[in-house]
Amino acid sequence: MAREQLQALLKVCEFIANMRLSSATGGNFSIRWQEQALAISASGKDKSELTVDDFVVCDLNAKPIKDERRPSAETALHGMIYQMDPKAQCVLHTHSVPVTALSLYNKEAQKWSLTGYEMQKVISGFTSHEQTLEVFIFDNDQDIPRLAQAVKEMWPQMHRAYAFMVRGHGLYTWGTSVEEAKRHMEGLEFLFSCELTRLQLSRA
Ligand SMILES: [Zn+2]
Repeated sequence: MAREQLQALLKVCEFIANMRLSSATGGNFSIRWQEQALAISASGKDKSELTVDDFVVCDLNAKPIKDERRPSAETALHGMIYQMDPKAQCVLHTHSVPVTALSLYNKEAQKWSLTGYEMQKVISGFTSHEQTLEVFIFDNDQDIPRLAQAVKEMWPQMHRAYAFMVRGHGLYTWGTSVEEAKRHMEGLEFLFSCELTRLQLSRA
């Protein structure tokens, strides 16, 4: 099962690279490998050229299991998502221009609220454009365990979006399957592209 999911994830990684959402080897992508383990893409690789050998299996505290390689520094954030949501099977972390730019637009903002978009309905649990989808923003931090702790503390308020932003950095999305995580990621990247265009039009 996990191996099938890994094959599905490889296709999604190629899609993400082709969409230019992981420029310059940025971003990282994982699946739940066992109940208490995850498999995550090794850092520094071009995401359009990943193979199954480029994934490192770690426990949910980011410690590699039977592997000499060091996983991505951001593995602890993936691990926190799997700990907080027992149903999460896949976590996708993209570095896109819209999310990077919008998350810095107001450096005090704790969240970005989306409303009025049909595309909001791609997020599981959302059924209408009239609802408000709140995507929380965390300040970037090179101390990833500290950032993971901040995510844990905010979890009850933010988990319905299946996503959060890291300021000036990128987007984390997840789902109960690789397919659902991809849908959430693609929908949210679309929505943030719309928001960036909307802001640019309002200033034209
Ligand atoms: Zn990142």
